[in-house]
Amino acid sequence: MNEIILLKLGEVVLKGLNRRSFEDKLMSNLRRRLQHCGSFRVTSKQSTIYVEPQEADCDMDGAYAICKQVFGVIAVTRAKPCAKDKDDIFRCARVYLDSELRAAKTFKVETKRADKRFPMNSMEISAYVGGLLCEAYPHLKVDVHRPDLCVHVEVREKAAYVHGPSEPGAGGLPIGMGGTAVSLLSGGIDSPVSSYMIAKRGVQLELVHFVSPPYTSPQAREKVVQLARELTAWCGRMTLHIVPFTHIQEEIRRACPEDHFTLIMRRFMMRLAEAVARRTGAKALVTGESLGQVASQTMDALTVSDDACTIPVLRPVIGMDKAEIIAVSRKIGTFETSILPYEDCCTVFTPRHPKTHPILAEVREYESALDIEGLMMEALEGVERVVVRQ
Ligand code: ATP
Ligand code: MG
Repeated sequence: MNEIILLKLGEVVLKGLNRRSFEDKLMSNLRRRLQHCGSFRVTSKQSTIYVEPQEADCDMDGAYAICKQVFGVIAVTRAKPCAKDKDDIFRCARVYLDSELRAAKTFKVETKRADKRFPMNSMEISAYVGGLLCEAYPHLKVDVHRPDLCVHVEVREKAAYVHGPSEPGAGGLPIGMGGTAVSLLSGGIDSPVSSYMIAKRGVQLELVHFVSPPYTSPQAREKVVQLARELTAWCGRMTLHIVPFTHIQEEIRRACPEDHFTLIMRRFMMRLAEAVARRTGAKALVTGESLGQVASQTMDALTVSDDACTIPVLRPVIGMDKAEIIAVSRKIGTFETSILPYEDCCTVFTPRHPKTHPILAEVREYESALDIEGLMMEALEGVERVVVRQ
């Protein structure tokens, strides 16, 4: 029997009556993501998902890497199935985990018996297989508390499975279960992290990026497409809506006080992102704002940007330090791209002394000098959509 991948469900198992739909969503996400690794059968039984290759040339390493990046899974392991027979289980462990058994000094066998018809209980299976392994590898000692290697045996419905230690899965909830949100993706470090964090809670993302050519370069735009592509490893396929922002920025510069420039610009971003949300059925916005990080991220400034939209703005990194955000960004693989040195539209016409404690009524007053509706329409007509996939 071919090696398979076993996935343990995370929070999904707490979902009570909705559990079936969570599992189904997770399995359909997995099937879609596994497509380019060959043909796999994906089924679920007793809080475990089985990923079984159907052809000899399936890419198991690729599939395993994908399984570790699918939200809703708490642990992942490769496992070898064998017949439900105590001696077959021992032989399977010996062959499949031979190099691990040679390398370890201490070990134990831990058995789960889901099939209660199996004639031995889990303690008996562990003792039997452990005993034979001790004979086969005379250097090995049993340590039930802190073994170098834990040999897992699972006796399930169709077969028994042998595997070594499992690795952590991506956690979170299956994408799609939490609805859709529009994430504002800049070329910075923070917004890829905030996108990842909300996707992890089961949310399908639509991405929005604002560009201001010729002030921002084609490389800056390409960098964001690249970041979006890197995020697909976690977030799945997404659409990136690229919104032309030059005319809006020029108009703000022409008609509004310099110290309010960033605030008014951010209000336009919120409005345009909400318009994309309306078009795509999304119910919230996501930003990478962190309290106090820059002038536009004080509580007063956040009040001013929230006022420009009517749907909730999710800010998952709001309480995180830069160092903590960077650690996540490294973990998810976006950091190296984020630090490429291309200008973002936020750095175009930056005020010398940005207002940190703005007054909402004043901001609205300054903004009324602009044709907000007209500028919005113009920007939305110019939106370019890029579908990003792995
Ligand atoms: P980041 O590292 O994500 O760029 P930042 O610390 O540079 O964030 P700002 O530039 O003030 O902070 O942006 C705050 C948030 O606004 C970003 O995290 C992102 O969600 C959104 N944002 C900023 N610029 C853009 C842009 N050009 N396109 C889309 N969203 C943007
Ligand atoms: Mg930025």
